[in-house]
Amino acid sequence: MSDRKVRVRFAPSPTGALHIGGVRTALYNYLFARQHGGDLIFRIEDTDSSRFVPGAEEYIIESFKWLGIKFDEGVSFGGEHGPYRQSERRDIYKKYVDVLMEAGKAYIAFDTPEELDAKRKEVANFQYDASTRMGMRNSLTLPKEEVDALIAEGKQYVVRFKIEPNEEVHVQDIIRGEVIVNSSVLDDKVLYKSADELPTYHLANIVDDHLMEVSHVIRGEEWLPSAPLHVLLYRAFGWEDTMPEFAHLPLLLKPDGNGKLSKRDGDRLGFPVFPLEWHDPKTGDISSGYRESGYLPEAVINFLALLGWNPGNNQEIMSLEELVQLFDLKHCSKAGAKFDFEKGKWFNHEYIKMKDNTELAELFMPILKANGVDASMDKVVTVVGLMKERVNFVKDLWDTCKFFFVTPTEYDEKTRKKRWKEDSPERMAELAGILEALDDFSAENQEKVVMQWIADKEYHMGNVMNAFRLALVGEGKGPHIFDITVVLGKEETLKRIEKAIKELK
Ligand code: GLU
Repeated sequence: MSDRKVRVRFAPSPTGALHIGGVRTALYNYLFARQHGGDLIFRIEDTDSSRFVPGAEEYIIESFKWLGIKFDEGVSFGGEHGPYRQSERRDIYKKYVDVLMEAGKAYIAFDTPEELDAKRKEVANFQYDASTRMGMRNSLTLPKEEVDALIAEGKQYVVRFKIEPNEEVHVQDIIRGEVIVNSSVLDDKVLYKSADELPTYHLANIVDDHLMEVSHVIRGEEWLPSAPLHVLLYRAFGWEDTMPEFAHLPLLLKPDGNGKLSKRDGDRLGFPVFPLEWHDPKTGDISSGYRESGYLPEAVINFLALLGWNPGNNQEIMSLEELVQLFDLKHCSKAGAKFDFEKGKWFNHEYIKMKDNTELAELFMPILKANGVDASMDKVVTVVGLMKERVNFVKDLWDTCKFFFVTPTEYDEKTRKKRWKEDSPERMAELAGILEALDDFSAENQEKVVMQWIADKEYHMGNVMNAFRLALVGEGKGPHIFDITVVLGKEETLKRIEKAIKELK
């Protein structure tokens, strides 16, 4: 790597919700920037006004805030290379369009969409390029006076890049190695449209990367086909020396079968493809998000980091800081990465297990409130500590833990048939008496006294404990029984025993 300062950018177009693949692209840019003490820029590529969707930009910013991916400069972050929204940079692009025109590397074309359509029908595989441009209506074929007159008249035109045929274009890609393309396969790309006085993506993207001193372009594989064109544009401007290095990331593939991961796969298989819930302003459709589905941002980050890259060993759990240390573009795979959604759940499970009990309790509190439970923080902290290993999502804690907060209103029929014996009411009444007499209600003391009682009376331990559990939980599951009674407290424990005796008869 050269000794140039690392500057990378994430440059989404605000055309809707940010796809999870875009999040991964941003993450890799972030890791790369942090690792090299560089800058991460947030640029909005909104030159295609027909695809602009209100709210998309705000959505993207909020997504990264939630995920903990921080930008150093850009839209909403400030910086010295602004403005960072392409629609606010019209004058800049116009200047560079003129530079290419004056150098004879671009030309004006007046062909209307209808004329182009007619050509496509007439000529098989028509492409606007060196082999056809002299038969079209443009500044290379029309006299200068006519060109000026047409512009003066207000006729719409585009500026096209004049690509020289039969040149080998070498694209060096950090992940893919060298890609060689013959320039004849490229068409004379439209760089600018008079209709909206805006450049196209290709020109704006290159001009901005140059002016913003971008050192590395790390982007999705779908942009690989445009890389040769970008190389030619850098050359046309005479910017080869500061051309960024490219890295085109592998595609994210469907969890099942081949092909690119799409929103439809998410709908079909039941997982989100967006970081946050998205309300489509045009259709009114609501799409689920990782945040609203109960994912922890650190789990999403870890999961995405491993879709297309690995640290070279079997390590799977890595914090953002560790990822910054370990990440290496050279270890990104060329082959697409299967979007293994189940693995995403597993990551969330692991991060819930690792999460501090108090933080987890804070996340669980609103769910308890929504279910009408008003519990003390201490109690919730203890409960999540006992139960967090059993869930994939915070929201699952409710079903798994509710018996800690509400007295069972019914008893699982199957468990009752199996576990509630004829002598259970009598045993439970006796147990209630023993527990009631305890001054020390710690788990250790309860266990000691109850075990002694069972041994003295030669009762069947399983029968007693299973009936006890049914009385406390309402079914046959749950953690260690005396962990439950300690949390419930003596009074509630006795109440539940009494209730079970009455109701289970
Ligand atoms: N605006 C492009 C997009 O929406 C960015 C491509 C690039 O990174 O050059 O993905």
